[in-house]
Formats: sequence, C-alpha cells, structure tokens
Amino acid sequence: MSLSIQNLHASIVGKEILKGLSLEIPKGEVHAIMGKNGSGKSTLAKVMAGHPSYEVTGGDVLMDGQSILGLEPDQRSRAGLFLAFQYPMEVPGVTIANFLRAAVQARLTEGEELDAVAYYKRLYVKMDALKIDRSFTARSVNEGFSGGEKKRCEILQMAMLEPSYAVLDETDSGLDIDALKIVADGVNALRSPDRGFLVITHYQRLLDYIVPDVVHVMGDGRIAMSGKKDLALKLEANGYDWVEKEPAVAA
Ligand code: ADP
Ligand code: MG
Repeated sequence: MSLSIQNLHASIVGKEILKGLSLEIPKGEVHAIMGKNGSGKSTLAKVMAGHPSYEVTGGDVLMDGQSILGLEPDQRSRAGLFLAFQYPMEVPGVTIANFLRAAVQARLTEGEELDAVAYYKRLYVKMDALKIDRSFTARSVNEGFSGGEKKRCEILQMAMLEPSYAVLDETDSGLDIDALKIVADGVNALRSPDRGFLVITHYQRLLDYIVPDVVHVMGDGRIAMSGKKDLALKLEANGYDWVEKEPAVAA
C-alpha cells in the first residue's frame, strides 16, 4: 500500500516543470520534500490533486495500485487523497461549518444523510485539538484569516476528512513558532499505519516538529537526492546548490 509517483512529467503553459519525478510513499510513513523556490514542489502537489492548468505529459501517479490521473479532483479526494495548499483560497459566503459538512457529506454513499449532532461533536473535538476557536465555524472559509489561521483551517479539513494520503504544501510558511507547533501537533496526531504523508517545505524548521522517515530533495524537476532526517540539517547548513553537483543517490 503506497502512494507511488512514477517517472512523472508535467508542464504548465508548455514549460516542462516535472521532468521524470519518481517517489514512493508507503502507508505509515512521512516523507518530506525540500528544494529551492521554483524547483517545482507546488507543481507536484497541484498535479497530484488534478489542477486543470497543468498538463501531465508522461508517467503515472498510483494510489494503492490504482492510477488517479484520469480522476477529477473531487474523485481523487474521495479516493483518499488530501492536499493542504501553500496559499489557501478564501471562499466568501461559505462558512467553515457548512464547507466541512458538505465535504464530509460528499463522502457518504448516495441517499445517506449526515447526522448533524454527531458531525458537530466530531468537528468540535478536532477544533479543540487544533486550538481553533468555536466562533470560527460561523466565519467564511479563510476570509480575513491570518496566515496561521489559514494553515490551521487546512489541518482541520485534513482531520475531518481522514485521508489515506496527505500532501502538505509549505504548511510552515507564514507561521510563527506557536502556530507551527499547533499545526505539527495536528499532523503528528494523524500519523498512523493507515496513512502516508508528503510534507513539502523549504525550511528544515518544520521537520524538527514533524520528524520525517525520509527526506527528498527536488532539483531540476526530479528527486535529486534522498536520505534520512539528517539530510534536512545538511541542507539547512549548506544550502541546495551542492545537491545538484552530485549524482542522484538514495542515501
Ligand atoms: P516551488 O513550489 O518549488 O517554489 P513551483 O512549483 O511553484 O515551485 O514553480 C515551479 C516553476 O513553475 C517555477 O519556475 C514557476 O515560475 C513555474 N510556474 C508556476 N506556476 C506557473 C504558471 N501559472 N505559469 C507559468 N509558470 C509557472
Ligand atoms: Mg511552492
């Protein structure tokens, strides 16, 4: 059981960004992807989620053996994939409570009604764990939220949807240390043998709190290097340039 990215090629407006990227995340593991700004990390996340602006020109993405590339974004989500955005969208006029309720309802089988009392009970348990004020349920999704609030809202969505594989794109950007810890605690609480994580980050700091099983470095549209947690420390100390001078290795 794994999320398997195989020789993936993808372009935007005719420009190739992913140039044969391969990566395997077994269930139960947390993998981190690091890389310079502009190296294609968000592109990878968006291609996995099915963003319509990106064209997949080669390779495949398999979830537990099934290709997801032919699926619409909502089908990918219902199949168990979750993406936390680097820059979450504001959705004016749609409250968090209604947004999440619709998302949870969409996962039930046709004709099945969500039990509202049980839903709110579960929502409040998750909100308490993420230290999100109850008043948030009545606010529009991400509208006027601080950076930290937006990120916590993404993690709340993840907690409610309980995905098989979660891709978190720069969950740490714009967070102060307290908000970072809350988000990391939220992720760590969801770590399980039944779930795989791909954590995208530019900075090593997040990986002090979400300790990954494997660290990958992205360069030139591929995985340029893979290693253990200490690879992140080496990148923090030495930057990214030395990676591209070395042949691709799996440490
Ligand atoms: P990262 O997340 O690693 O910082 P991105 O995936 O956001 O990198 O960007 C990878 C490359 O794709 C960059 O060179 C960026 O300029 C380019 N790119 C991203 N979005 C677009 C777009 N909408 N149009 C043209 N180029 C884009
Ligand atoms: Mg990015």
